[in-house]
Amino acid sequence: MKYLTAIGLEVHVQLKTRSKMFCGCAVEFGAPPNSLTCPTCLGLPGALPAMNHEALRLTALTGLMLGCDIAPVCNFDRKNYFYPDMPKNYQISQYDLPICENGRVPLHEFAYPKDAQRQIAAPDKKVRLVRIHLEEDVAKSFHFETSTGIDFNRAGTPLMEIVTQPEIHSPEEAFAFLTALKQILRYGAVSDADMEKGQMRCDCNISVRPITQQALGAKIEIKNMNSISGVRRALAYEVERQNAALARGETLRQETRRWDDDAGQTFLMRTKEMAHDYRYFPDPDLLPVKSEGLLDEVRALVPELPGAKRARFIAQYQVSAYDADVLVDDLDLARYFESAAHGARKPKHLANWILNDLQSALTHHGLTIANSPIAPGALDELVNLIHDRRISSTQGKEVFAEMFASGKSAGTIVQEKGIAQLSDTGAIEALCEQVIAAHPKPVADFRGGHAASLNYLKGQVMKLSQGQANPGLVGEILKRKLK
Ligand code: ZN
Ligand code: MN
Repeated sequence: MKYLTAIGLEVHVQLKTRSKMFCGCAVEFGAPPNSLTCPTCLGLPGALPAMNHEALRLTALTGLMLGCDIAPVCNFDRKNYFYPDMPKNYQISQYDLPICENGRVPLHEFAYPKDAQRQIAAPDKKVRLVRIHLEEDVAKSFHFETSTGIDFNRAGTPLMEIVTQPEIHSPEEAFAFLTALKQILRYGAVSDADMEKGQMRCDCNISVRPITQQALGAKIEIKNMNSISGVRRALAYEVERQNAALARGETLRQETRRWDDDAGQTFLMRTKEMAHDYRYFPDPDLLPVKSEGLLDEVRALVPELPGAKRARFIAQYQVSAYDADVLVDDLDLARYFESAAHGARKPKHLANWILNDLQSALTHHGLTIANSPIAPGALDELVNLIHDRRISSTQGKEVFAEMFASGKSAGTIVQEKGIAQLSDTGAIEALCEQVIAAHPKPVADFRGGHAASLNYLKGQVMKLSQGQANPGLVGEILKRKLK
């Protein structure tokens, strides 16, 4: 028997606003416990909420970036339940009139885990969304040995909930979805969406059913995941566990499980006999929101998205698909490349220098592209010196190291150090003749059809020139002389 897997994700994203969703308290990570609070976010009786305009704007922007329908009017509701980290006993959320509906997240090859990029089941898949709504986060509990402490700094911070259709079919697709989503959210400066920092949190609903069955299988929810790779591992474990259970003839029931990354297993938390009744009702303290004016403000903020940028880099700068992807993955890197490549003669070579030499030098010195000691334009100058054969690529590496260390321009370094490549044909010809005379055996081998001997001779000429000869010219001249 073959089984089908259907996965739906509910992703909570912390918005990058300066203040909370319904009060003026600052949103800040790492402040002393309970220092960022007021009667509203503490849930004290009688405190009134006031809407954060920026949170609405960022959610509408996300909706536009993901191709959602933005509701002309959305509403805020009370979702009632009791929980110690939410003392007013309801969460302000959106129920039947969310701000965004529909939309999709396009998956691309490089969003998949590296080891899965060769066998993508559905290339160019777009995962459709059900909705995006806006709500408030709850406080954070800290469990000590004999007591629990609650920090309300997080209570009331704006949270965007993105719900997908149950049409993700493998753990690898879930990984690609979260990676692609995170990238888009960063492009829009909506959130840093770092799962490790809790800025993006994900619940997975997974069900498995025999291939012959139409209806979805029992919905099993996994909570507690704090990395994208953890989501992949948890789902892989569940697919296998559920397939095995069905194969043994067991019936799966709706339940909630917890993922333990160290144990590499999910554990049963609770079974759900029926859906919770949260008794949603419109929050009488908040007016419905019209999106008309909001959309006008937000349309201008929609950035060029990763997919479009990737395609443009390939078309405009002739970089490889792989390089384009690495560049686009980090917005700062993409900006650096673009400002270096704009008007450059050899943008593809620039990409190589950025992705290899510059990246590794930055990593080695604990720097990021944003504080690179080499300015984008300075790197272009270096690439041009090599392209014009003023210096060899080996010398280029030397100049690069000096540029990185001193911040001087390539031209200045070449001049100061007297580095210049030997591109004088006459001088190179003399060196070639010298080498040909000194190495009769490889010369005979080459003439006898052993092509690799040319490299040996080329190496000898380079050595003789102390690395100064232009390697391209050396090859050409040797070949001509050995005909
Ligand atoms: Zn507050
Ligand atoms: Mn939620």
